[in-house]
Amino acid sequence: MRIEPIPAFEDNYIWALRGMGPVGRVAVVDPGEAAPVLRFLEQTRDRLCAILVTHRHGDHVGGIAEILAHHPAPVYGPALEAGDVITHPLRDGDRLTLQALGIDFEVLHLPGHTLGHVAYYRKGLLFCGDVLFGAGCGRVFEGTLEQMHASLARIAALPAATHIYCAHEYTQSCLGFARTVEPDNPAIAARAARVASLRLAGQPSVPSTLADELVTNPFLRWNAPAVIAAATARLGHPPASDAETFGAIRVWRDSL
Ligand code: ZN
Ligand code: FE
Repeated sequence: MRIEPIPAFEDNYIWALRGMGPVGRVAVVDPGEAAPVLRFLEQTRDRLCAILVTHRHGDHVGGIAEILAHHPAPVYGPALEAGDVITHPLRDGDRLTLQALGIDFEVLHLPGHTLGHVAYYRKGLLFCGDVLFGAGCGRVFEGTLEQMHASLARIAALPAATHIYCAHEYTQSCLGFARTVEPDNPAIAARAARVASLRLAGQPSVPSTLADELVTNPFLRWNAPAVIAAATARLGHPPASDAETFGAIRVWRDSL
């Protein structure tokens, strides 16, 4: 299987999972926009075998109806946000098998950005929608900061070699904030330089690896002394829990 980004809108990525068999089969993740996906299918002549949805925001589901009008396919997505586009609702712990691609995923329910948000995990890779970004995380629109922290803690516990396929090209601006939180973290400076040259060359900064996120992403670094110190300064007292450390950093980011 090959995984390719289909750029959409200003800074969204619709991920295409392409099978290697004689007949091209492809699944797409979070098609917020139809036109780029329809173009991709036309150019590759791949046959659409599935649509995967992480959550119901328009920039992740907006293209589905038009895609289906040309390419009927099952639509997998969160049971809690099924609406009328999702034909195969999924819950935490469900296994999703894409027979046409010969792969399967474990479904992780990761509430916080939205209440129903799910991610798709298999050894080596995670499609995490708007939960985790390169050096950042999604805004907490529906859940509590505690829920978002618990969701991020589940991601943090995955193998460090896991590739993180998020839905947005936000890494550069997120690294700016990461530097504000931890000005003396050399891994952040090194990643910022790496990402700057990728972006200059027109390359995506994602997927990253969880290993990379664990040393540079302030929203996964509630154990780092510098992040705890920054949270303490924001709160006016030492945080009582990892969730409170995370929450202080998230609220800080929202205030900028
Ligand atoms: Zn979203
Ligand atoms: Fe989004």
